[in-house]
Amino acid sequence: MTTANGHVNGAESQVENVIIIGSGPAGFTAGLYAARANLSPLLITGNEYGGQVSITYDIENYPGFPESLSGPDLVEKFKQQAEKFGTRVEFDYVSEIIVDQHPFVVRTQNGNEYQTRSIIVSTGARPRYLEVPGEKEYTGKGVSYCATCDGFFFRGKDVIVVGGGDSAAEEALFLTRYASRVRILHRRDQFRASKILQDRVFANEKIEVVWNTVVTEIEGEGGSVTGVNTRNTVTGEEGYLDTDGVFIFVGHLPNNELFPGKLELDEDGHLITDRKMRTNVPGIFAAGEIQDKVFKQVATSVGQGCAAAMSATRFLEELEAGYSLDLTVDPREFVAPKVVA
Ligand code: NAP
Repeated sequence: MTTANGHVNGAESQVENVIIIGSGPAGFTAGLYAARANLSPLLITGNEYGGQVSITYDIENYPGFPESLSGPDLVEKFKQQAEKFGTRVEFDYVSEIIVDQHPFVVRTQNGNEYQTRSIIVSTGARPRYLEVPGEKEYTGKGVSYCATCDGFFFRGKDVIVVGGGDSAAEEALFLTRYASRVRILHRRDQFRASKILQDRVFANEKIEVVWNTVVTEIEGEGGSVTGVNTRNTVTGEEGYLDTDGVFIFVGHLPNNELFPGKLELDEDGHLITDRKMRTNVPGIFAAGEIQDKVFKQVATSVGQGCAAAMSATRFLEELEAGYSLDLTVDPREFVAPKVVA
């Protein structure tokens, strides 16, 4: 198997075996496995190095680290281990992929162009916006999507957290380190968050939960947030709450800008893969939150990254063995559950 560099700007013009797009847990794990298969993978980090885990303060549920560790520390360990076996890490952003010819072509923001026999997509997801008036205007001026990044600026202040999932619960708990009061506004009367996080939220004296409430507008004065307009989702009653900061955790959207018209996406914008992490184009695989709309854990992303690299390795072996490649033939197989009479 050729492991030469596939950079086509300048003298080098050979073909990469595998390019991994994205540097979260799925991407680095794919790098580790592809490197150990002697494929000399090239991992292009994207602009959010480490992905969402890199803005997580404390990771308590990644196996093997019972004392917990910070997101940036875990990302560093992932990177070290992938590089140890030969993954090449490029700090760049993929701006275009061409997948209707083989080798595929990958172009980047820094003006690089690569040819590659296979691609593993692990571009992850980004926070969903609330999409209410004032949100854009006050982002960075009291509106935030990352407690770990911005919590420090709210020492002794009042903050509102919007959302009812694991992120809202976890980040609200983190904010109690700094804020004098944290109110969680949730649109229903029940959290979606895991039981252990719910218990911690209810036990924390600094946290108040405001049920059945949505934010309809974020207000501010002199360049900083002063409060939010609200609506009760049951009674329709409108209200106003004073606050210094609004932290929004209402889910995530897959980073799929590169793929419409090229790779098959579901109605929510996730790449559709089979159990072997194959997309509809042979030689292109996907792992992590770009294709996972169900689990979205570090542990599951790591597993999917491993599976994608193993499938890419198999694909490259078959290519090397002379199997014919037809890019128009969807390689995926969706296995129906066995019905037991
Ligand atoms: P999520 O589970 O999708 O929860 C989003 C929350 O925002 C839901 O409670 C939802 O309300 C609410 N919401 C959505 N749109 C809204 C809107 N327009 N206005 C008001 N509220 C709105 O998202 P997440 O909390 O970011 O978690 C994403 C995934 O990552 C999950 O699978 C989660 O388990 C995982 N995660 C895990 C951990 C951990 O294991 N420690 C930490 C963080 C995230 P409804 O409940 O009514 O739908």
